[in-house]
This record gives sequence, C-alpha cells and structure tokens, in this order.
Amino acid sequence: MEKKDSTRPHVLIFPLPLQGPVNSMFKLAELLCLAGIHITFLVTDFIHTRLLRYTDIHSRFNRYPGFRLETISDGMPEDHPRGDRIMELFDSLKTNTKPLFKELLTTGSLGSDKGRPITCIIADGIMGFTCDVANEIGIPIIYVRTISACCLWVFFCLPNLIEAGELPFNGDDLDTPIKSVPGTENSLRIRDLPSFCRSGDICHPSIQLYKTERQELRRAYGLILNTFEDLEGPILSQMRTVCPNLYPIGPLHTHLKTKLAAESTSPAISSNSLWKEDKSCITWLDSQPPKSVIYVSFGSLAIMTRDQLMEFWHGLVNSGCKFLWVIRPDSVAGDSQIPAEVAEGTKERGYIVGWAPQEEVLAHPSVGGFLTHSGWNSTLESVIEGKPMICWPYFMDQQVNSRFVEEFWKLGLDMKDTCDRVIFEKMVKDLMVERRDEFMKSADQMARLGKKCLSEGGSSYCNLDRLIEDIKLMGV
Ligand code: UDP
Repeated sequence: MEKKDSTRPHVLIFPLPLQGPVNSMFKLAELLCLAGIHITFLVTDFIHTRLLRYTDIHSRFNRYPGFRLETISDGMPEDHPRGDRIMELFDSLKTNTKPLFKELLTTGSLGSDKGRPITCIIADGIMGFTCDVANEIGIPIIYVRTISACCLWVFFCLPNLIEAGELPFNGDDLDTPIKSVPGTENSLRIRDLPSFCRSGDICHPSIQLYKTERQELRRAYGLILNTFEDLEGPILSQMRTVCPNLYPIGPLHTHLKTKLAAESTSPAISSNSLWKEDKSCITWLDSQPPKSVIYVSFGSLAIMTRDQLMEFWHGLVNSGCKFLWVIRPDSVAGDSQIPAEVAEGTKERGYIVGWAPQEEVLAHPSVGGFLTHSGWNSTLESVIEGKPMICWPYFMDQQVNSRFVEEFWKLGLDMKDTCDRVIFEKMVKDLMVERRDEFMKSADQMARLGKKCLSEGGSSYCNLDRLIEDIKLMGV
C-alpha cells in the first residue's frame, strides 16, 4: 500500500554553499524525491538569491509535492567573495549558522512542523557543526562529500604524512614520491597534494579542518560519495577502514538522468546553475565536425591572471584546433573585460561564452577534449561522456584529481604547475590528434563502466537502493 504523506521519511539536505556542492546535492535531492521521500533543501540566503536570479529551480521541483526550499544565513556580508576566501566561509558557518541551524530544527519552522518531523539529515561532511546539532537533538545524520574519494582519502591521510615526516616539505623536490597514502602505490608526488600542503605549515587551518573531519566521521551514520566503484574502487576500499558505511552512488548527474528516463518523468533536466547559461554555444557546436572542438572551462571559482589567459589563448590558436571557451566575467584577476585581441582573434577559431550549459556541451559529439581545472563535477561530467582531459588544477582537491586522471585512469594529461603556450599547444595536439586513439580508448571504456554502474544491479544503482532503504528504516 502507498505510504500516507505523514509517514513518509522527511530528509533535510544541507549542502556546502558553493556552486559545485549545491549542484550535486540538488541531484541527490531529486533522486530521493523520485523514491517518494520528502525533502527540505536548505540553502544560504546568498545561494538562494542566485538560484532565484539565474535558475528555474521552483518549476524544476514543482512536480515533487514533498519538496521544499528553506533558507538560512551564512552570517557573511552580501559582497564577501565567499568561494575565494573559503576558510572565512567555513568559520562563519560554524559560528553564525550553527545556532540558526539548531533553532530551525528545534523551535523554527522545521521543529514545529506538524506531522512531518525530520527523520534524517544529509549534510556536507565538511560542516561538522551539523553533526553536533543532529547528535544533540537525536536526529540521524548521513554525511555527503561531493569531492572525489581519492582527494578525500588524501585529506584523511594528512596526519600520516605529518607523522612520517613527509609534511611539511621545505624546499623538497616537488616530484618526490609520497609514501604515506595507502592505495596510491607511491604514484602521488608532493606536487599532487592539495594546494594548501605547499604552505609549509602543518598547523594550516585546512590541515586542521580535515584532521577533525576524519576523527568526527564516525559520529555520522554513513557517507554518501559522488563516485563509482569502477573508477575509485581501490581508494574506496581504503576509505572503508575509516568509514565502513559508504554509499558511492555517482555519477549523480547521470544517475538522475537514468532514473528520470526509466520513469519517463521528464525528457530534460532543467538547470540549477548559479550563472546565466549561454546556450548559443550549442548552435555553434552543431556546425563543427565530430570530436574537433576542445572545450575550455575552469569551473565556477578558479581565477587566472591576464598573462595566463594569453598563454592559453596562444596555445589554443597555435594548436589549430577549434575551441569553445568559458570565460566568466570574474575569471581574470582584476579584469572583467576579455582582451580585444582575444575576442577578435577567436572569431575564426572558436567561441567564447560567459557560462555554458556544461553537461550538454560535454555530451555534444563535436567536443573531443576538455581543458579543465579538474573540479570533481567537471571531471565526472567528462568521464561519463568519454571526453579525455587536459588538467590545469587551481586549488584544493583539483591537484589530486588531475594526477588520478593522468596516472591512474589514463584519461588525459596533467598540466599542473605550468602555464606555457608551447607546452599547452603540444598537449592539445597530443590529446586531440597525436594520441587521440589511446585516450579515446580509455575514455570510452570508463564512460561505459560509468553508465553500467547505474543500470539495474550496478554498484551505484544498488548503493542508492540501500541508501533509500536505510533512510526509510530511520523513519519507522
Ligand atoms: N559549469 C557549468 N557551466 C560552465 C562551467 C561550469 O554549468 O560554464 C558547471 C559544471 O557543469 C559543474 C560545475 O559548474 O557541474 C563546476 O563544478 P566543479 O566541481 O567542476 O568545479 P568548481 O566550480 O566547484 O570549482
């Protein structure tokens, strides 16, 4: 018999208030809505304003009567560049948002909700304060992390590196192999560690943050990850020594598309992007030959200098390949204008937009490669579409992801720590022409595995089923 509305589980989802995590968590929310679970999705006022301005979020979720959006303050001034000074955001969330979160769940609109108590919280594992509150008021919490398992594992191993004397490294050769990350077979180098490890300071706030996260993980019921066994199996096995109850259910964006298609619910997923998408690039791509275009995008946060922009531009032009380039208005430090020579010179060879419908772009047959900053969402979106990558990591997890792309998965080339037009031109030619067959072969194979894990009986399919069952049991 169909469950009455009042007896359905009610999950509060609270993502880290940044574009990537919010994007992924909306997908998780929709997957849970499809399973008949009520969802309250909590976003900061800052994110809410952008969602209303740039997306059709309400119409997207209208079809799920059990979905609602709630807001909370992140305690920061409106004009603070949140993503750019991320530690300040973390501090403010802990200090200012934590009491509001508790209030919301106890005396606020969620605490006093008749008939629909919160049966489970799903929150980003980096926001440990959510677990303090959940444990205090007796609501089960499942953590979610929207970065790669390989990077999370490196974060968790930072204390091992310090104990083994591998951190801090002062003046060591950046190519020195790292030995204290089990499961990586000495294939990680100092230069592949998260960017903050280069500070030479083992008391760096980020190192302290991840140390705490590892210690506190056991307080949560489990950990949801946006990845799949065939991609990160060996690392997931290592992770299970710290957190036995893992739910690797990715790639989330394709998981959702697959479920929607199976239900014939909706032919297309509407966007939840925090910038306005310029869809004209799809028309431009339609007129290009198959696999001829390299797509260039550095995600929502990465910033480059004008010199770096020019190195990329010359490299792209000299490679002879067509390119589609996302240059956000805030992506060049101190300069919101695209240099005139770039805008003019691109007309014959490429197309520039401020923000692209990236999933659609990567799925387009004309796209043959991706120059990426190796953000985890971008990496997964590329993997599932079988598009090889050139990686130019910017910060945090991206240094680790780019190493895995080249060294472990053989899905592209890692260009970290250099931005030189000649090196870049050679890499574009290698990826798109000289070594295209080699990269395409591994990219096709991984894309196939990525799709297979979402079909009935596949690993991510079964893990999502298990997650849903576990949530339903919490509500009993
Ligand atoms: N994205 C997009 N259009 C763009 C650039 C990026 O829709 O022009 C999306 C992309 O599809 C991905 C997200 O923004 O889902 C970026 O997340 P990622 O984890 O790759 O990087 P971050 O922005 O967090 O650094």
